[in-house]
Amino acid sequence: MEITYLLNSGFLVKTGRLLLVFDDFEDPTQAVDAAIAEADFDALYIFVSHAHFDHFDTHIRSYEDVVTRYVFSNDVRRTKRSRLFSAEKITYMKRYADWEDGTIRVSSFDSTDVGTCFLVDTGGARIFHAGDFNWWHWTGDTRENQLLARNAFQKQMKKLENLEADVAFFPVDGRMGEAWDMGAREFCARTNVKALVAMHNVGYPLWQPKEGFFGEGREIPFWTPKDSGERRRLDGGGFEV
Ligand SMILES: [Zn+2]
Repeated sequence: MEITYLLNSGFLVKTGRLLLVFDDFEDPTQAVDAAIAEADFDALYIFVSHAHFDHFDTHIRSYEDVVTRYVFSNDVRRTKRSRLFSAEKITYMKRYADWEDGTIRVSSFDSTDVGTCFLVDTGGARIFHAGDFNWWHWTGDTRENQLLARNAFQKQMKKLENLEADVAFFPVDGRMGEAWDMGAREFCARTNVKALVAMHNVGYPLWQPKEGFFGEGREIPFWTPKDSGERRRLDGGGFEV
């Protein structure tokens, strides 16, 4: 599997003969265009986890001629921007829904923000993209709001318990200060993800897990992308440049 960082929570994943694009935002190095130009793929899927501007960037409509399927969270449907796309190219997914087309299988989960998380099963790989699902713990917030955030997160974690995935993309957001990786820590502890990619952290220091982050005696390969266009190859051994 080859993963290219686009920007924010945006990634291009190449696995087998498939191109999977998640939350493509700006893509300043035009990695998706380059991959399409190489023409070395059989199908292209473009996922949008929710309609926030930093996850749903309408420049992806330029791929409409070549895309196999746009898979959008259902909240995107209510936006004016969704009308820029041909409706017959889009599959909208509500939370806790399943969709398959004979090539990939997609399951959606609820977010703690807007929209969904996606679990994509290509037959050869299982990829989880959290969207804006996270334990949004804001230090300066009221105790009540902090508890609400915690409860919302824990409620969804129950549905994700023991999830199996070869790689998970998960927010580690520097705006939350010390609490920036609380959600990722809990997520990794309660699922069986084999590799972690930190995301949604533009303009903040690169995240590094503290010792013991993955639990006692457990290490998971991780990657904290810095510059858009960065690429890693992920195999059983971890991330390689
Ligand atoms: Zn976001």
